[in-house]
Amino acid sequence: MLNLVLFGPPGAGKGTQAEKVIKKYELVHFSTGDILRSELAAKTELGLEAKKFMDKGELVPDEVVIGMIDAKVKRNMDAKGFVFDGFPRTIEQAKALDELLNKKGLEVTGLIVLEVEHDELVKRLVNRGKDSGREDDKDVSIIENRIQVYNRKTMPVVEYYEKANKYYPVNGVGEIDEIFQNICAVIDKMK
Ligand code: AMP
Repeated sequence: MLNLVLFGPPGAGKGTQAEKVIKKYELVHFSTGDILRSELAAKTELGLEAKKFMDKGELVPDEVVIGMIDAKVKRNMDAKGFVFDGFPRTIEQAKALDELLNKKGLEVTGLIVLEVEHDELVKRLVNRGKDSGREDDKDVSIIENRIQVYNRKTMPVVEYYEKANKYYPVNGVGEIDEIFQNICAVIDKMK
């Protein structure tokens, strides 16, 4: 199985590239952000609790997202592989993902990190906020907080995978298709 983590700061293009990757390699997409937003739209208890964190640009507690991933992996054991997008976002989540996959005889194949610098991220997110309908894209101070949370809590995950020789950086600036080609080249090398 090909189990990829598509990684990078908010606004790096993870969602856009994940859609293309799952189509080409026939993988199952896991976006914790999308799952949380659909819980919120359905006004479930989990969604309403998560909203308190999401609206401020803070991370939802680890146990909540880990539980969501566990449930979805279990339901998709017949898949050719998975693309994790927006997960793991903390070292605890990375360890939990390893444990969860290992129990099923699986492992993360590689971490693909989309690299985009700060000012470009802010520009993209402000732009996306004009029609995404996302509360957390509307306010520059919340956008800045999300980037800071990424740098503080999520970046250490890169080192975690680097130690396991599973770290693959890709330039996240340029044409969408050009970035996609670079991602495919990295995936084809891993396979
Ligand atoms: P995203 O769509 O990936 O930008 O996620 C939007 C928001 O959902 C984040 O700012 C967090 O509040 C929450 N979220 C998504 N994925 C995670 C995760 N793996 N861990 C904690 N919070 C998450």
